[in-house]
Amino acid sequence: MGKPAFDYPLPVGQINLPDWVELEESFREIFARNYYTNHGPLVREFDERLADYLGVRHAVCVTNGTVALMVALASLDLKGQVIVPAFTFPATAQAVTWAGLEPVLCDVDPTTHCLSAELVEPLIGPNTAAILGVHLWGQACDPQGLGVLSEKHNIKLLYDAAHGLGCARANQSIASMGELACFSFHATKVLNAAEGGCITTNDDYLAGVVRTARNFHVSETFTKAALRINGKMSEAQAAMGLLSLKQLDTNIAANRGRYERYRTGLADVPGVSFIDYAGDDKSNYQYVVLQSAHRDSIVAYLKTHNVLARKYFSPGLHQSYPFKERRHVGNNKFSVTDTLCASLLQLPTGQRVSVRDVDRICELVAHCPTSA
Ligand SMILES: *Cc1c(COP(=O)(O)O)cnc(C)c1O
Repeated sequence: MGKPAFDYPLPVGQINLPDWVELEESFREIFARNYYTNHGPLVREFDERLADYLGVRHAVCVTNGTVALMVALASLDLKGQVIVPAFTFPATAQAVTWAGLEPVLCDVDPTTHCLSAELVEPLIGPNTAAILGVHLWGQACDPQGLGVLSEKHNIKLLYDAAHGLGCARANQSIASMGELACFSFHATKVLNAAEGGCITTNDDYLAGVVRTARNFHVSETFTKAALRINGKMSEAQAAMGLLSLKQLDTNIAANRGRYERYRTGLADVPGVSFIDYAGDDKSNYQYVVLQSAHRDSIVAYLKTHNVLARKYFSPGLHQSYPFKERRHVGNNKFSVTDTLCASLLQLPTGQRVSVRDVDRICELVAHCPTSA
């Protein structure tokens, strides 16, 4: 075998880091204040800046995206079942279990890879309390159709928007879809706060409940919450998050450059295809997702060249512990999820990947032994 195309592993973390000098300055200020948690000035500022950026009345920061989901579900004070997609990151469904509810797995649409009203409606029964849609790859998850369903059946609609920061459909921010939306600031996401997340809402009452539920200390609000947790974001996280937010538009523009370069570079390669965003979708271009019947050989071949493409997500939740042991719940039809799990891969992007790197990765995919 010849020399790998890259002599260092190309990250799949899609990492975007803020400026080190500014971060150091921010940390000096935290030390000078001698105040590093419990709704400090940086967390308050981050809450406000995020709400502004996302075009929503309230953003409430928490420790991470999973805790955001747990706090959001608990704040709605639900009982019974929550419909979630089988094709998602495990946290979506596990958070439902943590909140004392029962996840009901639903297959996804073959074009959008998200839930749709058509797929969800047959699963709604007397115990259904909510629909938890996932805006996968930053595409809006049928906000209109699911909104109609939630009204018709008098159930709640909330969203896992971990992929969707900075995304919109027809100029409506993903942050203002559903009653609550949950974001993640993990390293793999477009905005990184050294772990972190937030919950957004336009509902003043719900925002109060969420603010109470995220901590055990004297609440900033006096709204009652059924269940509370220590989900507070620290000042250190907020420092990182604020600087990442400053760079977000630049990072999204650079992501878009890389994404378009991938699309052009792979346009003539037979057997591989991209997912298409809806015409009125605004994306953060954080996910370069490719579909191919030869997915496993492409991933293996890229790995020999130090390009760590990911099988994302695989396997589906219906095939994963603990959900695979609960196959009686839902309708047990997961053929689209199974196909996606077997054919999708995610290519590296983010600050550490140059446009020149993208060109080399496209060449590798084009010359992959079994992709032609
Ligand atoms: C990243 C992610 C989460 C979890 O967020 P964390 O911050 O890692 O806890 C949940 N759902 C989806 C779809 C994700 O991609």
